[in-house]
Amino acid sequence: MYLHNLWQQILTFLSREIPRNQLLTFFSRTAIFEFENGKLKIGVPHPTAQATIANKFLAILLKCAREVEPEIREIVIEVDGALLSKDDSRSVDITKIFPSEKSAKKTREGLSAKKSVQGGASSRTGTRPEDESATMPETDLDADSEMRYFNKHALQPHYTLNNFIVGKDNRLAHAAATAVSNRPGTEYNPLFIYGGVGLGKTHLIQAIGNEILKNNPDAVVLYLTAERLLNEYVAAIKKFQMQNYRNRYRNVDCLIVDDIQFIADKTRLQEEFFHTFNDLRDARKQIVMSSDRPPKELLEMEDRLKSRFESGMIVEVYFPEFETRLAILQHKCQEQKIVLTPEILEFVAANVHQNIRELEGFLTQIVAKMKHENFIPTIRSVAQLMKKQNGEQKLVGISDEEMTREIKVKTPEDIMNLVCEYFKIPRVELTGPSRKKEVLVARQLCMYLMYEICHYSYDSIGDYFQNRNHTTVLHAHHKIRELILRDQKIASDATALKREMGL
Ligand code: ADP
Ligand code: MG
Repeated sequence: MYLHNLWQQILTFLSREIPRNQLLTFFSRTAIFEFENGKLKIGVPHPTAQATIANKFLAILLKCAREVEPEIREIVIEVDGALLSKDDSRSVDITKIFPSEKSAKKTREGLSAKKSVQGGASSRTGTRPEDESATMPETDLDADSEMRYFNKHALQPHYTLNNFIVGKDNRLAHAAATAVSNRPGTEYNPLFIYGGVGLGKTHLIQAIGNEILKNNPDAVVLYLTAERLLNEYVAAIKKFQMQNYRNRYRNVDCLIVDDIQFIADKTRLQEEFFHTFNDLRDARKQIVMSSDRPPKELLEMEDRLKSRFESGMIVEVYFPEFETRLAILQHKCQEQKIVLTPEILEFVAANVHQNIRELEGFLTQIVAKMKHENFIPTIRSVAQLMKKQNGEQKLVGISDEEMTREIKVKTPEDIMNLVCEYFKIPRVELTGPSRKKEVLVARQLCMYLMYEICHYSYDSIGDYFQNRNHTTVLHAHHKIRELILRDQKIASDATALKREMGL
């Protein structure tokens, strides 16, 4: 089911980039067969689709795929004729993603069937040159459901009110977002959220959109950045489609505009937005905006707009205090099923002073290094990572002396002695045949550290353990590498051992 959903999402993103009829021609009855180690294996029903996708759409497909799942690094395409069978449940039926006119129940008044949809997505008018040359006849598509579909997907589903960590500092913003989600268009209209970069504004306003859709899947929620608002406005003027443009914004139940400060010096767009705003407010439709500063500080914004913005609820988001930062880190670890020791999390939380994106950035780096470079985080190694990025910033929780302390353990012998001391196991047991759990773990950890620190081959490490075979060492290495990410006990043992070594 996961692969099926993943492919559906990727196709949705792709549909904003390539003409719809080409999407229907080349991506019908396709599937994801496998996703492993960054490699996405997709299946197509015939060789023409394989060749066309490979030659024409691979780069854009990869881009879209990575927008949905950043871990995707490579795409391979396989032909499998079985996909053509209606009984083959692996494939995504594209015509289901884009329902036909007949199946759509109602069309909202004023929504022109020719309207283009958000994100420069496929347009029934065929504004792209390739459209004309495409061979596939367009199937009927109801503009309203198309729009609703795309609007939904401009929202990132992972931004929710549940995974927004609430602390003292952002409680009000969260409460306002919750109230708007539950009762859109009533008490807090507009909702204006402002604050510095990376403090959760986009998260909150997208969460509102997601929540409204969850409560009412038929609602039309339109989320877009102010920059896109401008681009669409300019495009509409060029194509003499102002009426379509207006209808599009006025037929929504909730309009969410991110980074509204962007339109502060765009006089004509402000004029247009002013009317949109009034119409929506009068129709008791919800408006949500984010900005990097409060309305009164939007210097070049027209006064009448500023006063409209001030007429609802204005909340500021702040940089969260230590406890909230720590809770965010813990939550992100849980989400990714990654184990980091409390001391590391506290250290990171204590040393990030700007924004949450930076906090997440460090966590992502640490996790990536753990996964791909077998990095074992210790306060010292994490501090070094942070120093590299932030230069001279003074770090709390580690002394200069500790940062520059000499490495104590260098040879395999040193490591074995240290491991024995740490686990209180006699040397003969460590190297001997015992299968007792604690001895086994100590032995495997020892092998892992010898490999990572001394860079010895599996064979020569085996020699230190009564000439064990290199596959035993390889197995130990892989196993510990996996456990360090998932098992709290192993993670803290590895961290403690590395600290003992002065690493
Ligand atoms: P902004 O729009 O204010 O620049 P974002 O909403 O993009 O900031 O937030 C940056 C990152 O920090 C996002 O990944 C977001 O999920 C995360 N984030 C910010 N605040 C919180 C919070 N309180 N709980 C969980 N994640 C948060
Ligand atoms: Mg933002």
